Amino acid sequence: MTETAEPDFEVIVIGAGMAGCVTAYQLARQGRSVLLIERGEAPGSKNLSGGVLYSRGIEQVFPGFLDEAPVERRITRNYITFLNAESSVAIDYKDGRLADPVNAVTVLRAKLDAWLADKCSPRTAPPASGSSGSGPETTSCTRMWLSRPMV
Ligand SMILES: Cc1cc2nc3c(=O)[nH]c(=O)nc-3n(C[C@H](O)[C@H](O)[C@H](O)COP(=O)(O)OP(=O)(O)OC[C@H]3O[C@@H](n4cnc5c(N)ncnc54)[C@H](O)[C@@H]3O)c2cc1C
Repeated sequence: MTETAEPDFEVIVIGAGMAGCVTAYQLARQGRSVLLIERGEAPGSKNLSGGVLYSRGIEQVFPGFLDEAPVERRITRNYITFLNAESSVAIDYKDGRLADPVNAVTVLRAKLDAWLADKCSPRTAPPASGSSGSGPETTSCTRMWLSRPMV
């Protein structure tokens, strides 16, 4: 009888959005073997455009994020409009403290999600803490894009 090697992972993360990618990255960094699955053709396929990302949290996960990641603009000014059916009131808010450290940026999710997923690739996944930094045990994140039609 022939034995077939079955893929074996400690964690399977469904969905390579921001949450899934960061979760897979963090688990791989802790030495877990992770499978990251995305139903789109590639991470970011789901997202239509982009938006505002409050970046101080993700900067802690990826030091240097603002310089390395595909960030469109750093936000230092906010123009907020409150609307009702007849009228509006606007606040124009600019503050140097929003820039140092950077509080928020604009991103295009198709670009950002692809960058995050690349961080989870076997090539770039971080070594498990305590490892020598080489060998298969240090590249514990496997990725799979299903290319199925989006619902
Ligand atoms: C119109 C709109 C505007 C927004 N603007 C902002 C904004 O400006 N700033 C902000 O911070 N947030 C914004 N949000 C919220 C933000 O998009 C979400 O909070 C964020 O995307 C959640 O990240 P996530 O990784 O949990 O999920 P998602 O980004 O939704 O990622 C989930 C991933 O899982 C995949 N997936 C789902 N089901 C399966 C499956 N069964 N098998 C395989 N893969 C699967 C999807 O294809 C997708 O890639 C906005 C949301 C919307 C709808």
